[in-house]
Amino acid sequence: MLHIGCHLSSSKGFAAMGRQALELGADTFQFFTRNPRGSRAKDLDPADAAALTALLGERGFAPIIAHAPYTLNLCGAEEPNRTFARETMADDLLRLEHVPGQYYNFHPGSHVGQGIEAGITYIAEGLNAILRPDQSTTVLLETMAGKGSEVGGRFEELREILDRVALGDKLGVCLDTCHVSDAGYDIIGDLDGVLTEFDRVIGLERLKAVHLNDSKNPTGAHKDRHERIGEGCIGLEALTRVVRHPALRDLPFCLETPNDLPGYAREIALMRTQAET
Ligand code: FE
Ligand code: FE
Ligand code: ZN
Repeated sequence: MLHIGCHLSSSKGFAAMGRQALELGADTFQFFTRNPRGSRAKDLDPADAAALTALLGERGFAPIIAHAPYTLNLCGAEEPNRTFARETMADDLLRLEHVPGQYYNFHPGSHVGQGIEAGITYIAEGLNAILRPDQSTTVLLETMAGKGSEVGGRFEELREILDRVALGDKLGVCLDTCHVSDAGYDIIGDLDGVLTEFDRVIGLERLKAVHLNDSKNPTGAHKDRHERIGEGCIGLEALTRVVRHPALRDLPFCLETPNDLPGYAREIALMRTQAET
């Protein structure tokens, strides 16, 4: 069975997200660990986290994805920015141990003119400072659209980061269909070729999750504007090939499309049907 869910608001707590996912027909979901500006997280309620952990097990969820605030930048130009990103991510990982064994996805960062090499160095240093041998969470580097000075638009950049992190078994990759298409990978016309390239450069065993999004822009646009499934430049047919692909079909898929909850429920149902027919 396809594992699919969508991005949910965490404002009502952990267990409420699990129940909401079930109502939407989902068996995974994603949430921001704190508001996108990356400010203080709400106090964690251990009973609420335990209730979600129990629900995930009882209802057979695929791993869920905690998403770091996208404003964090492990490779910012100013040292206080880099330190803030490290401290926030380390705190998130500590809190996530209350819901063990899930994924923590983050945007590698933007080198803001320092150059890709400097960016990669800072990101790897940051991860080496943050990751702990006893953590149960797998940290995922998200494939990026290559907008501005974003690091992670090329598979080679992600590979470089993975190579430089000591606790590599705590790291994986999350492939965002909008981002890889915007970055210039032809998942519409040649999904097999893109996945062969991913395997050659990074290794498919590192791929742990997929963000399933259509894109407002054509392949190579370097924009990162998500669109509803079937309403963008990638299209339903190509996204159906993504959820059916033997190298991907057992992974958790998470929608980050511009939708309200009924819209997400419809897309989840649609992709479940597409995966099976
Ligand atoms: Fe993201
Ligand atoms: Fe994404
Ligand atoms: Zn995006």
